[in-house]
Amino acid sequence: MSIIEKAEEGRRGPKKVKRAEKACCALSGPLRPSQALSGLLVGGVNSPVRAFRRVGASPVILRSGRGAWVTDTHGRRSLDFIMGWGALILGHNHPQVLTAIQKQLSQGTLLGLTTELEGQLAQAICEAIPSIERIRFTPSGTEACMTAIRLARAWTRRTKILTFEGCYHGHSDVLLGQDAGVPSSLAQEQLEAPYNNIEALEDIMKRRGSELAGVIVEPVAANMGVVVPDRGWLTRLRALTTTHGIVLIFDEIVTGFRLRDGGIQETMGVKPELTTLGKIIGGGFPVGAVGGQAAIMDQLAPSGAVYHAGTFAGHPVTMAAGLATLKMLRQRQPYERLEAMGDQLASGLREGAQRQGIAVHVNQIGSMLTVFFANTKQFAAFANGLRAQRVMIPPSPYETWFLSAVHTASQIEQVVDRARRLYAA
Ligand SMILES: *Cc1c(COP(=O)(O)O)cnc(C)c1O
Repeated sequence: MSIIEKAEEGRRGPKKVKRAEKACCALSGPLRPSQALSGLLVGGVNSPVRAFRRVGASPVILRSGRGAWVTDTHGRRSLDFIMGWGALILGHNHPQVLTAIQKQLSQGTLLGLTTELEGQLAQAICEAIPSIERIRFTPSGTEACMTAIRLARAWTRRTKILTFEGCYHGHSDVLLGQDAGVPSSLAQEQLEAPYNNIEALEDIMKRRGSELAGVIVEPVAANMGVVVPDRGWLTRLRALTTTHGIVLIFDEIVTGFRLRDGGIQETMGVKPELTTLGKIIGGGFPVGAVGGQAAIMDQLAPSGAVYHAGTFAGHPVTMAAGLATLKMLRQRQPYERLEAMGDQLASGLREGAQRQGIAVHVNQIGSMLTVFFANTKQFAAFANGLRAQRVMIPPSPYETWFLSAVHTASQIEQVVDRARRLYAA
């Protein structure tokens, strides 16, 4: 008797049920793992950028990561500049982080109720980012941004949201804009303005400011390649959102703990009402967080009427990994060294291209960097060429390269050398 039949019998008493034909899976039988990936996962991946389509290649399938290196299923080792899309600022499998994870694993993987670790990670974050008075952890950055928007809407009792071209705030309906599957009624609630453009900002605020619940922005953009905006634009954004009573949300999912011990908001001298975090604060595990002004945050259930919940929110293993990461960052302060390596990589890549008369723009801030070519074909040749020489950069011109504390100056020099060879080819 099937589990369903048993439940039905429990409800209605015994009854003759005709046995259903066993469903037959078209792909049953032994499959090689690579066949299973390409045949069963949509596009062969679980996140589109991993498909390598922008560089005309097929997905790289990895087996392991250690320090600054990743190893693929053929045993080929590459110097990694994807670094978990920015999450792994201490490198792969950092010993202290690993110890914290293992310690937590031995205490249980998922406890279902609150642990002290959540308070400890919250404290580490709030100490480092003063605008965060209260925080809620989520299992992903997407959910953190989605919840920040819901909070802004509840706070202002308005519905419209302003985003900026080229920024990314996860794949929730409320922040994806026009996309197949997002109702146009919802997409209409999202206005968009060009990034780092004061006139356009003044204009949209004048016309629509009173309708806006929230403005969400990457204070340094990392999802159209690295773009550092003018500080004046951010301060103007702060002033205008204050004037119009709009909740300003900084998406620091990439920049949080990446460029300094805390958020880039302190460096920029701009204080948002809400901040979203993710990536680094999970120490390599799925994570997100929304935090900010206590009164706005306290609208969340169970304190207030804005619903948010999660089976895996504040997951103990994530909290342990994140806490160990933030502790290491605070102790070791790798930021100056990271910045020096970032400068070295950026200037090396620029000079190499200049010498060969190749037009590239290298945008860099600290340990974040993007190389912009004249066209995507050139980028593809560069990315594929570097990969052939065992240097793994993001397979898209719009994704950021990330350095970690375990990269070294001599590794950077090698990458610059290899890039030079490619420019010359
Ligand atoms: C990665 C990222 C997100 C989404 O986080 P997920 O954990 O992938 O859902 C949101 N905003 C920014 C700026 C990001 O880089």
